[in-house]
Amino acid sequence: MELNQKRLSGQTALVTGASSGIGKACAIALGMDGANVIVNYAGNSAGADEAVANIHALGGRAMAFKADVSKQEQVKAMFQSAVEAFGTVDILVNNAGLQKDAPFMEMSLADWQFVLDVNLTGQFLCSQEAVREFHRRGMRTEVSKALGKIICMSSVHELIPWAGHVNYAASKGGVMLMMKSLAQELGPMKIRVNSIAPGAIKTPINRMAWETPEAEQRLLRLIPYKRVGLTEDIGNVCCWLASDESDYIHGTTIFVDGGMTLYPGFEDNG
Ligand code: NAD
Repeated sequence: MELNQKRLSGQTALVTGASSGIGKACAIALGMDGANVIVNYAGNSAGADEAVANIHALGGRAMAFKADVSKQEQVKAMFQSAVEAFGTVDILVNNAGLQKDAPFMEMSLADWQFVLDVNLTGQFLCSQEAVREFHRRGMRTEVSKALGKIICMSSVHELIPWAGHVNYAASKGGVMLMMKSLAQELGPMKIRVNSIAPGAIKTPINRMAWETPEAEQRLLRLIPYKRVGLTEDIGNVCCWLASDESDYIHGTTIFVDGGMTLYPGFEDNG
C-alpha cells in the first residue's frame, strides 16, 4: 500500500445521526479517508446537506438519507437506498443518540422509552441490517480484511453512573453489552464490532455544560487532561477503528475522554 493511500477507499460507511456534532465529524472524516458516506439524519436536513457538501468538496461521494433509527421500516429503507446508491455497506457507525433528562421520580415512562428506543433499539436495528448486508455482499479482501465493521457510539456513561439521567446511562450500559455480545457472536464471521466512549465533547447535546466560561471551568474539573473534547477527536478514532489498521481490535470500548474515567475526584490526592 502506498503511504498516502486513503485507508477506506472502495468502502461505504453509513453514519447515523450525522447532521450534527460527533456524527457529522465522523461522516466527514470517513469521507476524507476515502469512504462513500450515507449521512443519516432525523430532522436537520440542512446539517446533513452540509456534511454531504463537505465530503463532495473533498472529492468524495456522499448522500443524505432521512430515517428515524428507532423505526425498523425506515432503517430497512435506508440500507436498501445505500446499497442501491453505492453497492453495499462496509462500515456502520451507530451514532444517533439523545438525552431526555429528569430526576428519577419525575421521569415519565415516555421519556424512559424514547431514549431507550433511539439510543439502544436504534443501534440494534441498524446493526442487524448492516450484518445482513455484510453477508449478502460477502468478503472483499481487496478493500478490507473484515467482512464488515460496526462502531457503536457509547459514552463514558456506559461505565460512570449518572444521576438525573437514568434513561441515558441505562441505554449506554445496554450498548456496552450489546456491542460485546455482538462481537462474540459475529467475530467468527469476520465482522468487527467495537464502541467509542466519548467523554465531554463540544456538541449541541451538552451545550449547557461548556457554553459559558464558568460552565467550562466546572466541566474541566472532571477532565484530567484539562481540555473539552472536539468532534474531530472522535472522528479520528472512528476512521482508525473502521480501517484495517485496527484489525485486531474487537469487542472493546475505546474511551476518548481526556481521562474522565480516571476518578478525577482523586486528582489532588483524594
Ligand atoms: P448531537 O445532538 O449533535 O447528535 C445526535 C444526533 O442524533 C443528532 O444529529 C440527532 O438529530 C440524531 N438523532 C436523534 N434521534 C434520532 C433518530 N431517532 N434517528 C436518527 N437520528 C437521530 O449530539 P452528539 O454529542 O454529537 O451525540 C452523538 C452521539 O455521541 C450520541 O450517541 C451521544 O450519546 C454520544 N455522546 C456524546 C457525548 C458528548 O459529549 N457530546 C458524550 C458521550 C456520548
